Amino acid sequence: MVPADGALWRVRQTVHFRLHFTATQRSVALDLADWLEGKVPTVIQVVGHEPGERTNLYLFPTYEEFEAVSGGELDPWVVGLALPHRRLIWLPPQRSKAEFRVVALHEFAHVAWQAAVGEAESPPWLHEGVAKYLSRDFTLADRRLLERAAASGTLLSLDELNEGFPHDAARASLAYAESYTFVDFLLKRFGSEALGRVARPMRTGRSLGEAVEQALGVDLRAFQAEWFAHIRQTYRHQALWDSLEMVIFAAMSLLALVAFLQGLRLRRARWERLEEGE
Ligand SMILES: [Zn+2]
Repeated sequence: MVPADGALWRVRQTVHFRLHFTATQRSVALDLADWLEGKVPTVIQVVGHEPGERTNLYLFPTYEEFEAVSGGELDPWVVGLALPHRRLIWLPPQRSKAEFRVVALHEFAHVAWQAAVGEAESPPWLHEGVAKYLSRDFTLADRRLLERAAASGTLLSLDELNEGFPHDAARASLAYAESYTFVDFLLKRFGSEALGRVARPMRTGRSLGEAVEQALGVDLRAFQAEWFAHIRQTYRHQALWDSLEMVIFAAMSLLALVAFLQGLRLRRARWERLEEGE
């Protein structure tokens, strides 16, 4: 693992990480090492498993080197990669230290969740939900997507999520946002250890449905109904806001029309006065 420019990798080691970086990434690496280490207890609590062996994290000095090591042309929105089974994370340069933190924690959550389910394959959407949840990566755009989908009845079901991430960018973003809320709601509904309890039967080869049933005593279909109701309840403001916006827009149009008519009347009155006066 040698960067193309031949620069030497330096290493910063903590209890759970081995960060590899070049001279230009030194300050980011030092910040990231301590910050990530500080997040490990929360990650362990949520996935219910101590990840064990250290995770190797490489900070590439350029996007090109990151792309080269990942073995091909990447979609431009790819800002980090994890190979969870190998406890390996690759990051290209980010726009800020804050972004480094979110992306690194997102990728580490993939590693930790994989360690929790062992050799089993977690549904990819659940992997992303755990990563998004643990990196607190929930934006206003995510909220809007959920609000619109909830209002129009176009939320993606678990069956649809299981088919894989949609190719359409907006639907793919909705899938990520929903996956986040799945994890969030699971923990709210069954307590902070719920995900770890689900991971244990998954580790022994149970499907997500079987694991949820065994660990939490609820049928996954029934849980989906509760989860959708929670989304509709929590993210219904957009629909209200949309109708409010329409009312405001209509009121403003009416005011504009009134102003226009008054203007006409005023001009006519002035015109008449002028005619009378002269
Ligand atoms: Zn991810």
